[in-house]
Amino acid sequence: MFNALTHHQSANFDEQINQLAQLISNSHHTIALTGAGISVASDIPDLEQLSGGTTGSLSSESYLEAHPDDFYRQFHQLFIDPIFNVGPTAAHKVLAQLEHHQLLDGVITTNVDYLHERAGSHNTANIWSSLNINHCVQCGRIYPLEILREPVPHCPNCGGLISPDPIFRNIATVPAERERADLWTNTADLVLVTGANGYYDHVESRSTLVDINPAQTEFDDRATLVIRATADKTFVALADKLNLPIMTVTN
Ligand SMILES: [Zn+2]
Repeated sequence: MFNALTHHQSANFDEQINQLAQLISNSHHTIALTGAGISVASDIPDLEQLSGGTTGSLSSESYLEAHPDDFYRQFHQLFIDPIFNVGPTAAHKVLAQLEHHQLLDGVITTNVDYLHERAGSHNTANIWSSLNINHCVQCGRIYPLEILREPVPHCPNCGGLISPDPIFRNIATVPAERERADLWTNTADLVLVTGANGYYDHVESRSTLVDINPAQTEFDDRATLVIRATADKTFVALADKLNLPIMTVTN
């Protein structure tokens, strides 16, 4: 009985992966919309969690300026250590491979962890900004992700404190990133929604949708295909089906 049930479930999953591969092969413009669900395997929290709960002190720039040591100690634990120690997930890598093989126009993400780029994706829209944009609170210069590896990062130009751009935006979209995202959603005939927790309403109603999420989402009703599995499990199976390597794209 147990074996039969397991067999039935995995057969169903295989069939869904076949269908997903077919949809991607038949599509002219596929895009992915990703959210916190794709990065949980890297232990990175949802940006929305920062606005409340135990991480509330991370959401105020005045706290950063008053207590830089404590701010960055928490910030490293939550974001920087997982980003550098764990890195992109299998799902990030497969999405980068899909772009590299001209099977994906771009990735729109509400995540700020910059893991799509670190997996090798070029065409990304970081609509809530990313940790690759960090400004000096004194002179305003911008520095990339690497500067956040310093225990308490300071500006090489003027010595001012460095402030990570997405943390204090209060989930406001970045206009230039939003514009790029709109170009993709306007032309997409297939949208892969992966662990996403927002931005649904920007997807055109004529686009075919696939929802990849272990939990039920508000998106399921509109989806042509609902895959109730993690992003990693789904994209690893898809890579196998499409003969794509599961590795970072390097140039
Ligand atoms: Zn400066």
